[in-house]
Amino acid sequence: MQKVLLLVIGVVVLNSCGGMKKVLANFSVHEQDMILEKDSVMPMRVLKITNKKDSIVLRTASKKVVANPHDRVLKHFVSRLYKTVTDKMSMGVGIAAPQVGVLKNIIWVQRFDKEGFPFEVYLNPVITHFTKQKQDCMEGCLSIPNRRDKTTTRAYAIVLEYDKMDGTHHTELIEAFTAVIFQHEIDHLNGILYLDHLKQEIQDAKE
Ligand SMILES: [Zn+2]
Repeated sequence: MQKVLLLVIGVVVLNSCGGMKKVLANFSVHEQDMILEKDSVMPMRVLKITNKKDSIVLRTASKKVVANPHDRVLKHFVSRLYKTVTDKMSMGVGIAAPQVGVLKNIIWVQRFDKEGFPFEVYLNPVITHFTKQKQDCMEGCLSIPNRRDKTTTRAYAIVLEYDKMDGTHHTELIEAFTAVIFQHEIDHLNGILYLDHLKQEIQDAKE
């Protein structure tokens, strides 16, 4: 009887530990290992759709993160993601966490609508409004090698909600080319690639 009781207690303790970990940690053990594998100034490997394993990750939806300036792993990751998008090999204008294999709602976007075109990081970005007015844009993607395509379905302006690293929540209206970058990167968080919009365009043209 006592043995059974001990066993039950053991199970309860184990379960609650697992639960605690989920609440406290923003990243899985595998993600943490990948993030902390190299120094914070080192870029990470960019996943490509031409690789079967990579493309499965790129097609998976990401999860929310808890904005916390004291989260050492989060800070390390955000720094490495920045180094990845600005790396000479990439020279991107935006990047989403799943593009380096971390399925979390984190993106970097270059703000062409701000002086000096700064890169900024956004946690849990969500578009709450799209204008009916569209814009044409030439899009490329760090995860889709050797091609660029014209998309015509991007909204001209969006209303964006997001968290900053300090945990504050913000709402912002964003227009023109910068709005396309946000739409592209937030698509990544939902496992969507810009090629899917081309398919939609082909479909629309048929109807
Ligand atoms: Zn992309």
